Amino acid sequence: MLGNVHCSVARDGTFSRMCRIHHDVAGDVVTFRAIEKPDGATNLGVWRAARDSFSWPLARSWLDGLPGDKGLNICHEAVVRHASGPRHDVEAIRFLGKETKRRSFTYAQLEVETARFANALAALQVGRGDVVAALTGRVPELYIAALGALRAGVVFCPLFAAFGPEPIEARMRLSGAKVLVTTLPLYRRKIEPIRTRLQNLKHVIILPEEDGYSLATGCHGWDSLVRGASPRHVISPTPPDTPALLHFTSGTTGTPKGALHVHDAVVMHHMTGRYALDLRDGDVFWCTADPGWVTGTSYGIIAPLTCGATLLVDEAEFDAYRWYETLERERVSVWYTAPTAIRMLMKAGTEPLKGRDLSSLRFCASVGEPLNPEAVIWSQRVLGQPFHDNWWQTETGGIMVANFASMPVRPGSMGRPLPGVEAAIVRRRPDGRLEPIETPGVEGELAFRPGWPSMFRAYVNAPERYTQCFQDGYYLSGDLARRDADGYYWFVGRADDVIKSAGHLIGPFEVESALLEHDAVAEAAVIGKPDPVAGSIVKAFVLLQDGIVPSPALERELLGFARRRLGPAIAPKELAIVPMLPRTKSGKILRRLLKARELGLPEGDLSTLEGGSA
Ligand code: ATP
Ligand code: MG
Repeated sequence: MLGNVHCSVARDGTFSRMCRIHHDVAGDVVTFRAIEKPDGATNLGVWRAARDSFSWPLARSWLDGLPGDKGLNICHEAVVRHASGPRHDVEAIRFLGKETKRRSFTYAQLEVETARFANALAALQVGRGDVVAALTGRVPELYIAALGALRAGVVFCPLFAAFGPEPIEARMRLSGAKVLVTTLPLYRRKIEPIRTRLQNLKHVIILPEEDGYSLATGCHGWDSLVRGASPRHVISPTPPDTPALLHFTSGTTGTPKGALHVHDAVVMHHMTGRYALDLRDGDVFWCTADPGWVTGTSYGIIAPLTCGATLLVDEAEFDAYRWYETLERERVSVWYTAPTAIRMLMKAGTEPLKGRDLSSLRFCASVGEPLNPEAVIWSQRVLGQPFHDNWWQTETGGIMVANFASMPVRPGSMGRPLPGVEAAIVRRRPDGRLEPIETPGVEGELAFRPGWPSMFRAYVNAPERYTQCFQDGYYLSGDLARRDADGYYWFVGRADDVIKSAGHLIGPFEVESALLEHDAVAEAAVIGKPDPVAGSIVKAFVLLQDGIVPSPALERELLGFARRRLGPAIAPKELAIVPMLPRTKSGKILRRLLKARELGLPEGDLSTLEGGSA
């Protein structure tokens, strides 16, 4: 609860109900008011007008293309064209080391460094069709390798540095990477034990360590290989459908999939950077995601650079004090983070914020999981800015649905589709074909008309799985959602997580959001538990705020609280207070694991489990 405003999401999904704050004395249905914002110029302007006048050729015209009509290359759009234009001396990337060390690169310097890396790859006979993987923390060389590989027309495949040898082996084998960029400690711990099994891996490039290093056999040192390479490099013709990035999904619903993207994706990265994140010249943009996940590449590298902003990279992990200090000291103007981090900031309370001046913040956005309405209201109150939720997936390569800077935020909603993105809510007819649901507020699967530039082009080694994502002219996201009468989309849950209970279809998000309104609750996750009468009942797992002592009385209170908010048909019937919730290394709650453990079933692929297999 925030002050005397009770918050939960109305079930019918219509704006007229969503936008009212409605104090129901019985506490049954309480809705949010959309957060109106002061008028101000935004890149998007009026959503409907921007949509109507939009076309993909128009978005392509915002980029340069390779000189001489030689195609489209991500590194050219992100780096090279700025280096040869007025942004030459603008700071492109600012790195904050774990301690106090800072390193900064202008667009011109980045141009030279990426040219060197591209030439170093050529010297190793690595070229088109090959894959360069990276396994490092968020250090400058990772970003140079990513952009340099793209420059060379080589596929870049980032791996999250906290993976253990097994998940790394699985991903390296699937990717067929010929080159790996890593550090000596990571090499010794995670690659050496599996290297003989990585038959495609021909070269390992080891990053320099602070205190020098001795080279392991079969490895090249970054210094001698890259620093010694020529700083001049002309990008070869790059047809827009040239493979560019290989990203693995988070493994939230099962074994992670490798999604392949092409250079044309940069059209989407740039357009969404402009429209969904409202990026402009002079912005300092902080994306807290690691490039090991797609957000950390599409928006943690490419989009801000194509927009000519200054990208801030922090090598350190989450710390509420450090984050607020960073926002203030670096004058961050646009911030892109995730619900887990936001919930951790909420949990940390106002102490770390004391005395901080966050007036430079102009726009805050969130992605990766549903953003509970409570978090949006909190940020409006505490940061003076609502978080703008947006939705996309590894497979879509870029933001598809967003709360835009120019629109009132509807807390709990993912927003409206980007210009050029044709979204739909679909259901399966009895004959198995898909049909769009036009009636507002009705739940169905979130689907898109294929054709946006950053759409994945394959799941590596899984062509059938890829084909199954498409049917009757739609790409099926695997998520359930509904659309209100104004075209805002509301997340219901992943198709796998949705609970069928006594004839009701219950989305975990709604139940979890209601529990989060209780002052004692920091996080919540719900699952369906088989029940002979109802089919399934809702069981909730709850993490308490610091300092709150668990007790059977509190469990009963939380059950009663949820029942009053949601009604008996939807509220959890069982509730357990737990010391932690299982989540992926990218911070997503693993409901499938909670369920497997509850039911004593096999736990499935745990390669991305936080705290596991590192
Ligand atoms: P896997 O596909 O391996 O199970 P994953 O789906 O979590 O893992 P990602 O591609 O990283 O892998 O995540 C995309 C998913 O995250 C979306 O399909 C959706 O379920 C969830 N998601 C992302 N943003 C939002 C959002 N704003 N609201 C609700 N859910 C979101
Ligand atoms: Mg997925």
